[in-house]
Amino acid sequence: MKRKKIYLDYAATTPVHPRVIKAMTKAWRKNFGNPSSQHHFGQVAQQLVDTARLTVAEFINTKSSNIIFTADATESNNLYLQGIANNLTSGGRLIVSQIEHSSVLKVAEKLSAAGILALDLAPINDQGVIDVTKFQNLLQPDTKLISTMYVDNETGVIQPLVEIRDIIRNFEKENNTKIFWHIDATQAAPYIDIDVAKLDCDALTLSSHKIYGPKGIGALYLKDLKQIQSVFYGGSHEHNLRPGTLNVPGIIGFSQACQFIKSAKYQKHLSKYVVWREYFWTNLLNIYPAAVWYGQNQNLTPAHLFFSLPGFSSESLLILLDQQGIAISAGSACSTGAIKKSQFAEALGLTPEKMKSVLRLTLGFYTTKKDIDYVLKVFKGIIDRVNVKL
Ligand code: PMP
Repeated sequence: MKRKKIYLDYAATTPVHPRVIKAMTKAWRKNFGNPSSQHHFGQVAQQLVDTARLTVAEFINTKSSNIIFTADATESNNLYLQGIANNLTSGGRLIVSQIEHSSVLKVAEKLSAAGILALDLAPINDQGVIDVTKFQNLLQPDTKLISTMYVDNETGVIQPLVEIRDIIRNFEKENNTKIFWHIDATQAAPYIDIDVAKLDCDALTLSSHKIYGPKGIGALYLKDLKQIQSVFYGGSHEHNLRPGTLNVPGIIGFSQACQFIKSAKYQKHLSKYVVWREYFWTNLLNIYPAAVWYGQNQNLTPAHLFFSLPGFSSESLLILLDQQGIAISAGSACSTGAIKKSQFAEALGLTPEKMKSVLRLTLGFYTTKKDIDYVLKVFKGIIDRVNVKL
């Protein structure tokens, strides 16, 4: 019998949508030219990149000329933070939240260890939300750079970026200073209508493989291209900021993914996630009343569910679930930077015992109600079998 396979790890990556595959296949077959070439093949590829760039730009309400294509969110984050540091004429301070992805946290640690920018970590509260008052208190006249995530990849908490924006921009006015503010919107893109004009940020990171596009392609929005000095040396591609022959099929696939996310069909689907997540949670609590959902009452994406089943080990649960064809994750808090791991757990009030039992489930476009029923059945089977006495 064919084993059932249920994917509930959409925050890790998403399946590639058929319209993306179709457009990329055509590009691989027919439009293989190098966009930098003068001849016909090159020019066709260049036109396709131009059209795709406009789509990606419109996805976040900006102009094509503000989009730099990169390999992924990791590269965008690295390029921006290090690119700002490269451009500084004097030292200063850098603020990142304590729950940033390792591609921000590790760069921040590195810049701090090298004595380039002193690092201030903005704490989160016990619900996984950046503590806005504590954040405000960290700002100093020599704060030069701030990086905050839009949505946390573990809990799915949407961070209070409007408040953060106002704090930063008011502080700038009051202190007659300039602060470069970067947003890592990797996990926000599947759920939130991102508008860089309204956010008034200096830079923003996107990744295609989180929105049903291909892996190996991402973008960095830059309000002003001159704000960074690249860490890369090579050709003059992407305004000299990201040299290397453009990944034409990847860029086309990325733009198709952006269009898919904006489609009415996808947007309509989002409300289903919320209903199914509630349904799953209510039933899981019936099976195991000690279960805890972190961030439950916060402003969450419709798809994330970060929870713990005290008494169980997430590692063994993952194996047992995988044996039944169910793919979820133990929460990347377990695998990312040391700062995130310990401070995240501490801030959420996760004792080492609870930390051991966290799981992250993320729903997506191909999730069905039947999948959720099956997952509940499997959870019940596992919990009944282990029969933990609390
Ligand atoms: N930032 C966040 C918030 C993420 O969740 C991830 C991926 N888990 C990344 C950055 C890195 O993304 P990529 O795989 O595109 O490098």
